[in-house]
Amino acid sequence: MALTGLDIYKLLPKTNCKECGFATCLAFAMALAQKKVSLDKCPSITAQAKEALESAAQPPVKLVTIGAGDKKIEIGNETVIYRHEQKFYHQAAIGLLIEDSSAQDRIDKAIAEIKGLEFERVGQKIAVNLICVRNSSGVKDKFVSTVKKVAAGSDLCIALDSIDAAAALEAARSIRGRRPLVICRNMKILPEFVKAAREENLPLAVSASTLEEAAQATDIAKRSGVDEIIINLDGNGLAKTIQDFTYARRAALKKNFRALGYPFLAFTSQAEPHLELAEAVSYVLKYAGIVIMKNRDKDFIFPLLVARQDIYQDPQKPVQVEPKIYEVGKVTKDSPVAVTTNFSITYFTVAAEVESSKVPTYIVVCDSEGMSVLTAWAAEKFTAEQIADTLKKSGIEGIVSHKKIIIPGYVSVLSGKLEEVSGWKVSVGPREASGIPNYLRNWK
Ligand code: SF4
Repeated sequence: MALTGLDIYKLLPKTNCKECGFATCLAFAMALAQKKVSLDKCPSITAQAKEALESAAQPPVKLVTIGAGDKKIEIGNETVIYRHEQKFYHQAAIGLLIEDSSAQDRIDKAIAEIKGLEFERVGQKIAVNLICVRNSSGVKDKFVSTVKKVAAGSDLCIALDSIDAAAALEAARSIRGRRPLVICRNMKILPEFVKAAREENLPLAVSASTLEEAAQATDIAKRSGVDEIIINLDGNGLAKTIQDFTYARRAALKKNFRALGYPFLAFTSQAEPHLELAEAVSYVLKYAGIVIMKNRDKDFIFPLLVARQDIYQDPQKPVQVEPKIYEVGKVTKDSPVAVTTNFSITYFTVAAEVESSKVPTYIVVCDSEGMSVLTAWAAEKFTAEQIADTLKKSGIEGIVSHKKIIIPGYVSVLSGKLEEVSGWKVSVGPREASGIPNYLRNWK
């Protein structure tokens, strides 16, 4: 939990010497609490107070980076328990498992299938992020060659899952530069993995069956010089794991309990695809930083990615499309022109219905701050004047040969005023998007 101004004040020298540029220590403390000034502006602070304040300023859940370059993953650094308190910052990574004991052609097929797990929804790209290579063969060379094959065939992040620290280290070195996550499966072999992670500066996942064990493991790793740690709670089933993830998130955020202030990793355990999907979605909701699945069927991965996209959407900020003219189909100067708001779901629903009508149409999207039609109208973000202004600025007048605009049926009340301020002839479209195809086919 962030320190208040008064908490900080108690640690300051309280001499009011003004060297920091503030009239009093209290004023400096208040500015520091709001992150408007840095601690080093006070030259008189004791080393002990400095350490306490710097430690309190660390994020309650450590930010961990896996991979490098464009596809790197950042997880952790969350500040709230419930999304509506603020927002979640770093979306859970979705990983898929490849076992090195599989036949070569099956490994090739898996890599190719995982590559295809990228979709577009409401104007955003959603995709899986990681491949976890498991050393189920127990053979070091096989593990290393599989890891190299995966790295050559995919630019996603890689996690190394082996009970042999030497195999994990050799595999990590064979793809140096990709900065894989190393997963240690057992407390007994933790020192070997810690050494490997430290040598190669890699993020390390420690495995434990209880939160107490997890706290011990992170403490050992941290004291041994590993900074980026992830906690994997193994083999407790969905309900217990979710309960533990929730306790840990609360302990980190509310009690500032550093030993559990790390992102969590969850492997799905269900073999049946629907149950595995439900399990994975549950982990995304509460509070995994990485979820690793076995099933890579598109029909199951897509809903998981959609659930993640929704959970990690800022609740204060609706998904928006750019306000501009969109062409649906092979439009001509005689095509109809429809107007709507820039709330993504509204736009994509309208665009999909226009597409299904097979009537090429221009859609002029107004900046309604991401609100849907009725909400924007009620909030005065979709008024006759704003629509007229958008029509003018968009340049649609110079594109089509007519001055006829279709407005959503829910805002038919705007038609008179809009005709007056824009000079366009207004037609009132259907209230529901499902009525668009029929409406457009009969549009003149
Ligand atoms: Fe207080 Fe430090 Fe500022 Fe002096 S420099 S007023 S001691 S906070």
